[in-house]
Amino acid sequence: MLDADFFHRWMTRTAASVDREAAHLTELDSAIGDADHGSNLQRGFTAVSAALDKEPPQTPGAVLMLAGRQLISTVGGASGPLYGTLLRRTGKELGDAPTVTVEELARALGAGVAAVAQLGGAQAGDKTMLDALLPAAEALGTSFEAARDAARAGALATVPMQARKGRASYLGERSIGHQDPGATSAALLIAALAATDGA
Ligand code: ADP
Ligand code: MG
Ligand code: MG
Repeated sequence: MLDADFFHRWMTRTAASVDREAAHLTELDSAIGDADHGSNLQRGFTAVSAALDKEPPQTPGAVLMLAGRQLISTVGGASGPLYGTLLRRTGKELGDAPTVTVEELARALGAGVAAVAQLGGAQAGDKTMLDALLPAAEALGTSFEAARDAARAGALATVPMQARKGRASYLGERSIGHQDPGATSAALLIAALAATDGA
């Protein structure tokens, strides 16, 4: 069973991973965007970490909803509202249960990913974070490791795609041949989940 502390540690681990990979994420965004994805997420997850530490929420759902709110209020770019919606919606689905199962998390994450698709109007193959998140949510029904591997494979699979949503879509065919920054950070989020102890 996964408790509030597990979700708190997932978010803390994501913040550390985003810090480590910020330069890489920004480099990917400089090829097909505006070179701010690393700094956007660094600012966002630093705020998430600080808010969770200040007043640790008591349930898994509350941890994710607070994290989502922080991302929406601190990240100016497209990724803030999208990741914010992902975490808020996933948290809302978890309700106020003190602990949740991996199966319940898998179902809730599926709803969160669907909310991202609805907000951004993107679908699989559009070269966005969804190309990592959709296969990850699906594979989470099997295991954390399967979800981590599916997200990573999904991020790599964005390289040959032409972007149809977000800033990268302005480049048309010139977006081909570059890995999507948001799909790359989504793989970090899921890798952090798989690396969090206590499942
Ligand atoms: P911005 O593009 O506003 O500078 P970021 O650089 O932080 O924001 O985030 C860019 C990432 O957001 C892209 O790599 C892509 O994965 C994701 N993204 C952009 N638009 C959409 C969308 N409509 N649906 C899903 N993901 C999107
Ligand atoms: Mg950007
Ligand atoms: Mg920007």
